[in-house]
Amino acid sequence: MGYKTMVGLEIHCELLTKSKIFCGCTTEFGGQPNTHCCPTCAGLPGELPRLNKGVVEYAAKACLALNCEIANSSSMERKSYYYADLPKGYQLSQLFVPLGARGYLDIQANGQDKRIRIRRIHMEEDVGKLVHDQSHDGSLVDYNRSGVPLIEIVTEPDISSAQEAEAFLTKLKAILQYIGVSDCKMEEGSLRCDVNITVKDTQTGKATKITEVKNLNSFKAVYKAIEYEEARHRKILEEGRLSTKQTRRWNDDLGKTTMMRTKGESQDYRFFSDASVLSVEIDDEEIQRIKASLPEMPDAKYKRFIEEYGLPEYDAGVLTGSKDLSEFFEDCAKIYGDAKTVSNWVMGDLLRLIKEKDVEIRDIKITPQQLASLLEYMDKGTISGAMAKKVFEEMFESGKDPGVIIKERGMVQISDEGKLREIIEEVIAQNPKSVEDYKGGKKKALGFLVGQTMKATKGSANPQLVNKLLKELLQS
Ligand SMILES: [Zn+2]
Repeated sequence: MGYKTMVGLEIHCELLTKSKIFCGCTTEFGGQPNTHCCPTCAGLPGELPRLNKGVVEYAAKACLALNCEIANSSSMERKSYYYADLPKGYQLSQLFVPLGARGYLDIQANGQDKRIRIRRIHMEEDVGKLVHDQSHDGSLVDYNRSGVPLIEIVTEPDISSAQEAEAFLTKLKAILQYIGVSDCKMEEGSLRCDVNITVKDTQTGKATKITEVKNLNSFKAVYKAIEYEEARHRKILEEGRLSTKQTRRWNDDLGKTTMMRTKGESQDYRFFSDASVLSVEIDDEEIQRIKASLPEMPDAKYKRFIEEYGLPEYDAGVLTGSKDLSEFFEDCAKIYGDAKTVSNWVMGDLLRLIKEKDVEIRDIKITPQQLASLLEYMDKGTISGAMAKKVFEEMFESGKDPGVIIKERGMVQISDEGKLREIIEEVIAQNPKSVEDYKGGKKKALGFLVGQTMKATKGSANPQLVNKLLKELLQS
């Protein structure tokens, strides 16, 4: 009884170099159609591609961060096919010797550690984009993207569930962002993922033919597509039907995959070397130099956050899941001192607002210095915890210093005993029933009276002081 799911991922990832892989055109996203291109991008006859050294360096960084061996000598080949977004009729890619191979990434899924092997990482150029515009007959072509550098990361079929695929992609994205080689924005297409899946009946040893799923534009879509295909493949095995090798497309609206084409045999791309592109040579010294330039990786930072700041594993995991978040936390913890309090605010209010307002961490207005300063206002008793939450929201919106907001809103916590005593005496006078309850031994009544006092002061009373004074006054 049992099925084994085997999933391999092919991930295309745009590199963040300023210029394209074979010319000086900008790689910037967007822009008017066909303004970021030149004859080399379009592959016009007579144009010679010149390999961008920065692309090799970025690709090598990714290879090393993903534990790959780097080939001292690799080359680029022509992958021949024609499509309107590829006017020169071939894409330059690395077939015979990829830049990196035999790597791995360790993940955690369903509470288990697992190593996913990476078969290869190679460099290639992106193609243009077809624009299907309703106002025109037919389609338009935008070549701005053609020649944008890509790496393709191909895993071994070691992934055995949708959860593992999600864990792999989440960690991969974090690593690529840590080393600064890609922004991994799936919505802008700078990270794209295809899924290869097959299911084996562990009893009979029979397996389905591989299905390739394309058009996955979010981690959620990858997750759902794997679940859908896993069920479809199992059904084929259960019913004893024959499967065919297929390419399918994920339809997010329908929540299912639909068939694009069957693959009788693999497409013949007629790979051959391109005499106009020199081979890529990297010696061991250069590899060591690039390796030494890598920053601290998520796993190492996770361990350090636990050791250095005494954070729980859960906190360390959330905070190091993103480079920007981990840096925000650490900058703030260094200023403020109490790391756990900072972690609570970052994981709580900060992440909540980031999610609600749908912004990137790097774009938020609030700074680590400002959060530290807010926490200090709380410690000094200038504002209460409830007030701090309100101030924080305004800081997030406007980027103003907490001191400015506190002053503007006149949000000063009432810590004046005389003034508070007057308010509490009034609360006691207005709530004789609760006072009686309290004196009769109902401790809950005290909480109600504290609440009434906080209400009367619009949340600006110092709660510890209210508690202390209430008890005193009730006993007298
Ligand atoms: Zn160009």
